[in-house]
Amino acid sequence: QGKRGAADIVLYAEDGVANPTHWLTVQAELRRAIERDELVLHYQPKVRLRDDEIDGLEALVRWQHPQRGLLPPSEFLPAAEQSGVIELLTGWVLRRALTDQAGWTSLGQSWPVAVNVSARNLETPGFARVVAGLLAEHGTPPERLLLEVTETAMAGDAENVARAVVELAGFGVGVAVDDFGIGYTSLAQLRSVPVSEVKIDRLFVTDLDRDPQNQAIVRSVIELAHGLGCRVTAEGVETAPVSAWLAASGCDAAQGYLYSRPVVWPHLLEMFLNPRGT
Ligand code: C2E
Ligand code: CA
Ligand code: CA
Ligand code: CA
Repeated sequence: QGKRGAADIVLYAEDGVANPTHWLTVQAELRRAIERDELVLHYQPKVRLRDDEIDGLEALVRWQHPQRGLLPPSEFLPAAEQSGVIELLTGWVLRRALTDQAGWTSLGQSWPVAVNVSARNLETPGFARVVAGLLAEHGTPPERLLLEVTETAMAGDAENVARAVVELAGFGVGVAVDDFGIGYTSLAQLRSVPVSEVKIDRLFVTDLDRDPQNQAIVRSVIELAHGLGCRVTAEGVETAPVSAWLAASGCDAAQGYLYSRPVVWPHLLEMFLNPRGT
């Protein structure tokens, strides 16, 4: 934890967030915000490239701050991850996501829900058991939940993280490697943990139809992931040519502004049931 803390402070020093007093304030405020239910989840669809159907929704947390308006995760996640607040936050997100998933299922769409978890969550002993308890509490079949873990998190406390992933996979919860391609230990990790999905980072996707180097990288990631039995989702798909390139290259699913920005879930249900907006 000490090491990661130092790295985060360097990263966030530029915008002044490294000020420790500020961090303590954010942490205290965030605890209160969770108690007062000020967090909200927006959802972004994962779209199957084969037929353009939605086949899952990713939950992305925001903070509806009473004074500062709707805050993106970059404003509060780093502070949460430095402290036990991340455990409260992830617990809140999981509960809300499972409740929302039951909501859209009852309206006829059984889309699985994907929840982002931090390295610190996976490193906490007993995390997989907490997840199993929440699934039971909500009556959610484990295959309707997917946890997204960044590639760099996987590289952290590798042993504990791998143990948690094995446990989760053991009772049927899928784990996706998020932001794939930006770390440098990718290949070894995919072999040693039972990952069900690889999400290619936006960095490689944005100009994919015009950048031969990114094309080479993405082609080999798709081949590698499929070879290991993982499905592949590309994030940050903003244009039709990129989507077409991905479909032609065998990528399974895409996410990005081309399809939808993250929004509250009833909005997606409406779009999906009424695609022409009539
Ligand atoms: P991520 O998991 O890689 O999520 C994708 C981010 O890219 C989201 O930003 C999303 O709004 C944005 N995005 C989606 N499509 C496009 C696109 O076509 N173009 C561009 N330019 N951006 C796009 P957001 O919501 O600000 O989330 C940022 C990060 O915060 C997430 O990155 C994830 O790592 C983290 N995060 C979000 N929600 C949670 C959460 O509940 N728990 C944890 N631990 N982390 C979360
Ligand atoms: Ca994610
Ligand atoms: Ca991602
Ligand atoms: Ca990303």
